[in-house]
Amino acid sequence: MHLAKDHYLTRIFFLTSFLISIVFYAYFSLTTKSSNAEQEKAVKTQEVEPVPKSTTVTGAVKYSFISSILSSGLSNSELKSLLSLLGDNFDIIKSVNNGDKFSIKTQHDTTDTEFVSAFYYMGSDIDFFAMRGTDDNIYIENGYRLNNRYSFPLPKHFRVSSSFDLNRKHPITNRILPHFGTDYATPVGTEVLSLSDGIVMKSLYNRFAGNYLTIKHTDGNYARYLHLSQIDVNIGERVTKGQIIGLTGNSGRTTGPHLHLELSVAGAPVDFEKYIKAEKSYNEQFVYIAQAERKQLIKSLTKTLPLNQPST
Ligand SMILES: [Zn+2]
Repeated sequence: MHLAKDHYLTRIFFLTSFLISIVFYAYFSLTTKSSNAEQEKAVKTQEVEPVPKSTTVTGAVKYSFISSILSSGLSNSELKSLLSLLGDNFDIIKSVNNGDKFSIKTQHDTTDTEFVSAFYYMGSDIDFFAMRGTDDNIYIENGYRLNNRYSFPLPKHFRVSSSFDLNRKHPITNRILPHFGTDYATPVGTEVLSLSDGIVMKSLYNRFAGNYLTIKHTDGNYARYLHLSQIDVNIGERVTKGQIIGLTGNSGRTTGPHLHLELSVAGAPVDFEKYIKAEKSYNEQFVYIAQAERKQLIKSLTKTLPLNQPST
């Protein structure tokens, strides 16, 4: 009797626990399901995050580049944005011919201001593409940055024999004698190339610098090229980026043939080696984006305008 009662109680106990576990199981599985659903919903809302508003306009050149751009539907402020995107990488006079076609993508930034994010030009002379990266730099389809202001002053990278050093001590006098430039050890007669577009301000000889050139670049910065064996440009002459301006040498006070290059930014000498490294010109991240953008612009162009030009 005693045993039977115990057995009965045990059964009730197990039954109750069983029911409780079912209730808990049902509760938990339901809440998990609903939180899964919420997660899915969250993922979905993330997927439909606002895509920046963009518009693509296309057109053909009739006489002037600017008027053709404006008549394609670009506003004045968008035209300004386009010109800043092109910089001096696209000649709106020389590269442009009647009948050339263009495709322009405009977007709205976070303050809802319109700007030109990409440009494609299908010309009889040139095929040109440029886009503004999310870092605000300008890239072409292979991921190269266009607004890289300076090229290298020599055909290849020669060894730095003496770096830029504001606290350089003179080896004999032990006095601090700053070195405002970078010395590249080059054989005499190596071509010296202009860092950027500019105008020749000085072409002189002095016993320390030897034959040297001072060029004021279009951004207002000055570059000096010292110890040359030959100078190929005259004062007042306009030079372009990469143009040969002279040959390296050993003139003036040197311990061996080299090019001493000095760059002054906003009036103060800077370490050219560090400066150009910071201006790294290639960005892998933008290769795919730029290629996709270019394809899209070509697509809009072929969709909206008849193409009568042979592809080159
Ligand atoms: Zn030097």
